[in-house]
Amino acid sequence: VWENCLSFIQDNITPQAYKTWFEPIKAVKLSDNALSIQVPSKFFYEWLEEHYVKLLKVSLTKELGEKAKLVYVIKMENTYGNKQPFTEKIPSSQRSNVSSQEIDVPVKNKSPELKNPFIIPGIRNVKIDSQLNPNYSFDNFLEGDSNRLARSAGLAVANRPGGTSFNPLLIFGGVGLGKTHLAHAIGVEIKDKYPEKTVLYISAEKFTQQYIESVKKNNRNDFIHFYQIIDVLIVDDIQLLSGKAGTQDVFFHIFNHLHQNGKQVILTSDKAPVDMQDIEQRLLSRFKWGLSAELQHPDFETRISIIKNKLYRDGVEMPEDIIEYLANNIKTNIRELEGAIISLIAHSSFNKKDITLDLAKKIVENYVKNTKKEVSIEYIQKVVSDYFQMDVDTLQSKTRKRHIVQARQLAMFFAKKLTKASLASIGTQIGKRDHATVLHACKTVNNLSSTDKQFKKFVEDLHKKLTL
Ligand code: ADP
Ligand code: MG
Repeated sequence: VWENCLSFIQDNITPQAYKTWFEPIKAVKLSDNALSIQVPSKFFYEWLEEHYVKLLKVSLTKELGEKAKLVYVIKMENTYGNKQPFTEKIPSSQRSNVSSQEIDVPVKNKSPELKNPFIIPGIRNVKIDSQLNPNYSFDNFLEGDSNRLARSAGLAVANRPGGTSFNPLLIFGGVGLGKTHLAHAIGVEIKDKYPEKTVLYISAEKFTQQYIESVKKNNRNDFIHFYQIIDVLIVDDIQLLSGKAGTQDVFFHIFNHLHQNGKQVILTSDKAPVDMQDIEQRLLSRFKWGLSAELQHPDFETRISIIKNKLYRDGVEMPEDIIEYLANNIKTNIRELEGAIISLIAHSSFNKKDITLDLAKKIVENYVKNTKKEVSIEYIQKVVSDYFQMDVDTLQSKTRKRHIVQARQLAMFFAKKLTKASLASIGTQIGKRDHATVLHACKTVNNLSSTDKQFKKFVEDLHKKLTL
């Protein structure tokens, strides 16, 4: 039947149009007077409906009579969802392996997904797996001064997605302060209030991968169209787009399309827009259209309530003084705070011991040590001497041997770079030199690292070791 339709169609349109729009179609099922055809994307379907609906109708009526019906089946490739493809209608076991190669399989042996075809007419909204984590809700995102603005802006957006001036809503703040949690919470709340809305959470990293993949597979357009049908798009860690011109470009188009159509965009970033580097100006300016809300370090009260809430949810009890000890000592990262609680619980249950302050101290020490940023000048000299296999005394000595001088200069350079010490105090600590010597050392290191590859590598290696 379809063959006959095709030859009729072929006679009535240009070869180019035929090749583009009809060759990719696969007839998949004929029952009574309904013919199911499979098309590669929703965009494809819409295009056919818009431009060739009459032609299709005429050709089909010729074959099947007045009652002829056409059913579209949209082929969903496992490309744009997270792990799962983006239809919710078809159980995963039945949909994951529809790849373009399998199209040629005879109709009878087609993958079982066709028993339960994803039929568009009547169902205008495509079902997309939103990739939301239901454990990240507003309920367990505790409010405090540090997050009040971001949290309430998030709630406002969840109540009226696309309908507030917070579009895009950009949530920014340091590591472990709740950006991802809040972003999911907004999505989860929207799904709850507006189940018919298409919500998608995606990390900028994943978005980039998908985009690159789509370019490789030559379906960049499908990629764009997929994103353009979303009602609420949440992109996490948008700073990761920095330096990726192609991805930024495609995101720019998607963003504009969504924004113009009153769709909601929610973004997170570890930096404020003004501090984002290597992101195109036109994108940065879009980011500022809506509201940028910062997640700050939680204050003591908030830290206490976050700890208590976590313990409560895990069904664990902990003495008050230990809770306060934790809150007093882990201040800048909620993920670390949670990590410390978990390892405290694990240690105590593993060793069948009560949770004591001593144990808490040990664990917190680990966390604090591992995350301490400021290094000491003593430590720098040790690392540099080790690196050049000499001891600290040699590094500090008066010798003018070139490689020792260089090591000393590197130590001074990093002391200046990584500590708050003054030139004078650096000089005193590294072999009793004066501040001019330290200044000279810093200049020399800068010069050498731009002219001498080997030396540049020393600088990079040492920097890594010192900031690990
Ligand atoms: P980010 O994305 O900013 O690095 P996350 O959203 O991953 O941080 O948050 C780190 C952890 O801290 C998560 O487990 C999250 O649930 C928790 N968290 C962050 N903020 C809050 C909050 N206000 N209330 C409760 N838990 C929070
Ligand atoms: Mg995150």
